[in-house]
Amino acid sequence: MRKKIVAGNWKMHGSRSSVNSLLEGIKQGAASCASNVDMIVFPSFVFLPQTEQLMTGTGVAWGAQNMYLDKQGAFTGEVSAPMLTDFGCQYVLVGHSERRSLFWEDLALVAAKLKAALEFGLRPILCIGETLEQRESEQTEQVLTAQLESAIQAIGIDAFKNVVIAYEPVWAIGTGLTATPLQAQETHAFIRSLIAKHNPNIANEICLLYGGSVKADNAAGLFAMPDIDGGLVGGASLDANSFLAICKAAV
Ligand code: PEP
Repeated sequence: MRKKIVAGNWKMHGSRSSVNSLLEGIKQGAASCASNVDMIVFPSFVFLPQTEQLMTGTGVAWGAQNMYLDKQGAFTGEVSAPMLTDFGCQYVLVGHSERRSLFWEDLALVAAKLKAALEFGLRPILCIGETLEQRESEQTEQVLTAQLESAIQAIGIDAFKNVVIAYEPVWAIGTGLTATPLQAQETHAFIRSLIAKHNPNIANEICLLYGGSVKADNAAGLFAMPDIDGGLVGGASLDANSFLAICKAAV
């Protein structure tokens, strides 16, 4: 049985004091869910030391929203995987649609980041998803296939043992629109079938998260679907009570 994962992507939000309150709030409720669901938070880089300090030993893991490929060097403004692991990160988001669209991350760069994350001991959450235009022109499967196959080619299917995939339809991110449980299930089943063509065991074991306006009141319906193994949550993860309610819906 796949253990569910609920991950909070805080994007570029928070201050030292609001992050403190959010982490303290999550910590209070973590004991009642952390043994049944893997809870992960993704704060901005600058809040990682604070996160390590407050969350060590709570059962809640943390990760970064981005990373660069190299270990170190003349890459002004970038953060490397070894820097992240030094602050206790176990996870990193790779290929989030905001990085693909706003920061021009193409298939090759996303695949290279995935490879680098694994090489340096981070567990990547690879985000894939189609835009509204692509869905409406019935290109969803084609887009997801291209995103996934380029990643498989870069790291090989066996490496997917250590990868989590988040299906995030771009039209549902931060819009309040959510894929219905059936829509999401249908796409998750398609993603699992793509992986199964390469390796049925890995397809069976890999965690497929849904992301796109997951909230406390729609999480249980989504997580009840057989191929949905939890969620990647943006807006609703910025409030400890709503994040905890989503985690409870995954238990
Ligand atoms: C996200 O940023 O990955 C996300 C799913 O955001 P939201 O939950 O706000 O749609």
